[in-house]
Amino acid sequence: MKKCYDVAVIGGGPAGATFARELSRKHPQMAIALIDGKPKTGGKVCGGLLAPDAQKVLAQFDLDLPKEILADPQIFDVKTMDLQSGIVRNYQRHYLNMDRAAFDRWLLSLLPAQVDVIVGRCTQITSGQDGFCIQTDGEPTKIYAKYLVGADGASSIVRRQFFRPCKKKYIAIQEHFADQIVGAPSYSCVYDPKTSDTCSWIIRKDGKLIFGGAFHIKDGRQAYEKQKARLEARLGHCFGESTKIEACLLTSPRSARDFVLGNDGVFLIGEAAGFISASSFEGISSAFLSGKYLADAFSEDPKRTLQKYKKSTRKLRMKLLLKIFKMRILCCPMLRYIIMKSGMCSIEKYEKSEE
Ligand SMILES: Cc1cc2nc3c(=O)[nH]c(=O)nc-3n(C[C@H](O)[C@H](O)[C@H](O)COP(=O)(O)OP(=O)(O)OC[C@H]3O[C@@H](n4cnc5c(N)ncnc54)[C@H](O)[C@@H]3O)c2cc1C
Repeated sequence: MKKCYDVAVIGGGPAGATFARELSRKHPQMAIALIDGKPKTGGKVCGGLLAPDAQKVLAQFDLDLPKEILADPQIFDVKTMDLQSGIVRNYQRHYLNMDRAAFDRWLLSLLPAQVDVIVGRCTQITSGQDGFCIQTDGEPTKIYAKYLVGADGASSIVRRQFFRPCKKKYIAIQEHFADQIVGAPSYSCVYDPKTSDTCSWIIRKDGKLIFGGAFHIKDGRQAYEKQKARLEARLGHCFGESTKIEACLLTSPRSARDFVLGNDGVFLIGEAAGFISASSFEGISSAFLSGKYLADAFSEDPKRTLQKYKKSTRKLRMKLLLKIFKMRILCCPMLRYIIMKSGMCSIEKYEKSEE
């Protein structure tokens, strides 16, 4: 039987889940399909830190986070290390440390029955006069919809097929280790211009130590291994036995042209639209907001939808442009040196007594 929907959403991350939930609330008569194919390795490759901006949007949605989603430990600061200059500073942070796969499952669990969640990866999209035909490797294999929403993240098939890609992409690599290093900081941010022009991170999470970073796609794995060795030399210990290594693409917008909202009945939200912070790679808050804004703007007139969506995302796009500027400052070794050397905004750690 031919299955036809008003709207098909590709991708069930924070952007897709938020959009589908909000659209169904605003238009209870609409038939909505959400097609999501999780990567074979499990959940999304992510640091799993919920930033204050994302917490604020959850508050605006009147959503409380179930405690099962939180990971151990909760963190209050980031230890920032510059491997080139050797400077180390601590900065206060207000993130929630969470299990990202559990977070995504929870967001999907909030969807009403009106949204058909289809498990499978979209492999091909064809557009015709009446809308779009979406082929999947799941069941059903063909889905028809009047409007298409790409919420499929950094390697978005929707963006690739219909729009100009975001110019700058990294390969993000994360490795998991058994957390056996006594006294290791719970959250670190690492700059090493010899191996990457952006930052890496170490996060303790539920008995694991996760080390990850973003590297140039061409020689990403070698750069990652080199940085890991340089970091281990600097820390004076090895990370130990690796239990898992994962990788995915990561978008890094460089100009306003990298933000693409849609056209002709196809819309983009979340990282697929280029909505991610270039300085910290925080993307959950932008995924929430763009999902909400598109749902609010949605009407049977795609031109009007686009107009309204453009207007409502103006502030978000401005904020993300400022993050590009911030990234240029933080990723410039000389400017970073001056900022870190000055101790500006850093916190002092009290001495610990020897046990
Ligand atoms: C290594 C790393 C660490 C990060 N750490 C953080 C962090 O700590 N905090 C933070 O706020 N942000 C972080 N981010 C950014 C954040 O993960 C993303 O910006 C955010 O998840 C974007 O949400 P989204 O819904 O747009 O896309 P995604 O979360 O990527 O969701 C896209 C969904 O679409 C599905 N999909 C993709 N292609 C297809 C297809 N062809 N067919 C069907 N389904 C498909 C995917 O399986 C996925 O479920 C990190 C990113 C990376 C790569």
